[in-house]
Amino acid sequence: MAREGSLEAPTRHPIDWRSPDFYDADKLDRELHRVFDICHGCRRCVSLCTAFPTLFDLVDEGKTGELDGVDAKDYTKVVDQCYLCDLCYMTKCPYVPPHEWNVDFPHLMLRAKAVKFRDGEIRFRDKLLSSTDALGKLAAIPVVAQTVNALNANGPARSAMEKVLGVHHERKLPPYTASRFRSHATRAKTNGTTNGERTPGKVAVYATCYVNYNEPGIGDDLLAVLDHNEIPYVLVEKEACCGMPKLELGDLDAVERLKRVNIPPLAKLARDRYAILTAIPSCTLMFKAELPLLFPDDADVKAVAEAMFDPFEYFVLRNRDGLLKKDFKQPLGKVSYHIPCHARVQNVGQKTRELLELLPGTQVNTVERCSGHDGTWGVKTEYFANAMKIGRPVFRAMAGTDPDYISSDCPIAGRHIEQGMGETRARRAHPLALLRIAYGLAERP
Ligand code: SF4
Ligand code: SF4
Repeated sequence: MAREGSLEAPTRHPIDWRSPDFYDADKLDRELHRVFDICHGCRRCVSLCTAFPTLFDLVDEGKTGELDGVDAKDYTKVVDQCYLCDLCYMTKCPYVPPHEWNVDFPHLMLRAKAVKFRDGEIRFRDKLLSSTDALGKLAAIPVVAQTVNALNANGPARSAMEKVLGVHHERKLPPYTASRFRSHATRAKTNGTTNGERTPGKVAVYATCYVNYNEPGIGDDLLAVLDHNEIPYVLVEKEACCGMPKLELGDLDAVERLKRVNIPPLAKLARDRYAILTAIPSCTLMFKAELPLLFPDDADVKAVAEAMFDPFEYFVLRNRDGLLKKDFKQPLGKVSYHIPCHARVQNVGQKTRELLELLPGTQVNTVERCSGHDGTWGVKTEYFANAMKIGRPVFRAMAGTDPDYISSDCPIAGRHIEQGMGETRARRAHPLALLRIAYGLAERP
């Protein structure tokens, strides 16, 4: 008899995406039916996102009140509402492997998205929005950046964009920079390497598309904090998008193409004992968890995963090694801090909160709930309202303490929360900016 819930630590099976069975539509439908039926009997995840309410409404409004009353063609409605935050797997589901029911809801949604992609059922808009590197390269050209930013803030242009591209006109979009992070990043001020028991003493920074093209200040703040702590750093010599937006679209061949660009230089740095830091949780997660599951036999991917740190994971471990400076000069007051899903599922604990709580004169209100944006999901016309609805409890909890700062490791979630909060006196700042401010370091131009 099957045990009710697993008492063992969850594991994840590699994603068998090269097997012909993976893309077999009948086999996929059978697996969707099996897992949806378990979910219908369980319903624990009803409050997490709109995928589960969509499924349960389909069941409840069907002829039999059971899954056999749902037309399998409607399964795609559930798949479309999933933005792969992983929270159901990580925080709710008692039936994840090693439980014999083997429920990995997000990776089943990923498989369904991959089949949809291979069948060509993907809009031009989705392909465009997931091409973060190509879009950024174009939009961050000086005059182009100013034009794109002006159009993004222009009502009639946004209405046209909604009609043509399906980007919701109310979604505030991050600006493009005319000064890319990788072009202007300064050299490290230190050469000497002090390895700790838990941390390599030298860092390689994987910039990410978002930091490179949208908010280079986050990268500048990371370098300023590294310099202040006398940790030498280099930028990764050559990088492409981590592949997370393509993964979320189900375009696994594109994920592999990007992996071929990224992994060789990163693996070399990993073998040279660099800690590899990326300031965007989704990108960190891609290297730490998703690529190893997609390419389980690739030793380079494994080496990179082991060398990859979230910046606050690195700084907290550096502190435990007795090697983090604590000469903080500037109290921050009240900080409402949101821990994004893709930081939670890295399974390293709340490292940003831990470090922010070390700062004198700083009270941290931690909000641990999905904000509902995801990378591109919450900008799309058909999902914008749901993204705002999922985020509402987060907006309220973030505003609750009348904070001086609002902050999220995910800068896109941070912008989404700021938009959802509406009028506020709080300043939005990435946790790395907060750390730089607390050290009393000047913002880099
Ligand atoms: S991965 Fe996230 S969005 Fe997808 S079904 Fe689970 S909780 Fe919902
Ligand atoms: S994913 Fe797991 S916990 Fe969530 S509804 Fe399905 S069976 Fe229940």
